[in-house]
Amino acid sequence: MTTKTKTPVSVITGGAGFLGSHLCDRLLAEGHRVVALDNLLTGSTDNIAHLAGEPRFTFIKHNVTQYLYLPGRVDYVFHFASPASPIDYLELPIQTLKVGSLGTLNCLGLAKAKNATFLLASTSECYGDPLEHPQKETYWGNVNPIGPRGVYDEAKRFAEAMTMAYHRYHGVDTKIVRIFNTYGPRMRLRDGRVVPAFISQALKGKPLTVFGNGSQTRSFCYVSDEIDGIWRLSQANYHEPVNIGNPTEFTILEFAELVRRLLNSKSRIVRKPLPVDDPKQRRPDITLAKKLLGWQPGVDLETGLRRTIEYFRNKV
Ligand code: UDP
Repeated sequence: MTTKTKTPVSVITGGAGFLGSHLCDRLLAEGHRVVALDNLLTGSTDNIAHLAGEPRFTFIKHNVTQYLYLPGRVDYVFHFASPASPIDYLELPIQTLKVGSLGTLNCLGLAKAKNATFLLASTSECYGDPLEHPQKETYWGNVNPIGPRGVYDEAKRFAEAMTMAYHRYHGVDTKIVRIFNTYGPRMRLRDGRVVPAFISQALKGKPLTVFGNGSQTRSFCYVSDEIDGIWRLSQANYHEPVNIGNPTEFTILEFAELVRRLLNSKSRIVRKPLPVDDPKQRRPDITLAKKLLGWQPGVDLETGLRRTIEYFRNKV
């Protein structure tokens, strides 16, 4: 455990994004001072509007691929900036590669200069279209480096390699979380991911767009569970990647049916082409997180979806 005497200072890149803004809330609740950086490419100040007037919170509009200097003490650097939905990173391939590479380098440089703990938001995409199921941290993955998703997958894999190098070579206290599909309030309605896509389609009475035959699987983690796992990892003395996600697995077709049922929706299901390299199955093995952090998710999909639906109702 890290021992910090004064009010800890945390810097969060991507602090106005979906996960970043929830992490800001958690860190403030833990008593930290929080500096959120975001270039608002996919993030939005709406996500942090409720923090205006909070004296321990500062927002700086900054692109973390540019050199980063912050005066004063920093105890934690959380690197969460990146386009993260497949549609976003297909539209923003160079920015995605830059924030995972140059952005990670700048954040690690900041952590090193300030003697701060660094936590990288990595991803289950490191496993690509996995041949091992469920995915353990020890699995090296099955990634197509030159496919359209490669810009995200390889940026994050590079970011992990860079993080381990700063740990091994410079002795920086680093952590790596591999985040599996997470959902909840503050996701963008039109970010293209399956949770906002199906909910908004059902709310509007439009057909639900199932890609491929819908037999591909995902395991959905509610945002408060995800953030709790990330917080615990930031406090742990462990440097290799840790999966944080919900191991309850659904096919996309089952997921579409659940959304229809929860919304009493009459929307049809229509088939669309399966995106290139779309992983066929995904489920985290969370044995390590359970053992190391005493963490496991507590919010089931139905409960989490009901909360998410309430959020989206006012946005559609
Ligand atoms: N998907 C779908 N319809 C949509 C959006 C996504 O069937 O409108 C599928 C997508 O092909 C993938 C799964 O849902 O198999 C999860 O996609 P998402 O974009 O949420 O994230 P991913 O897990 O692929 O990063």
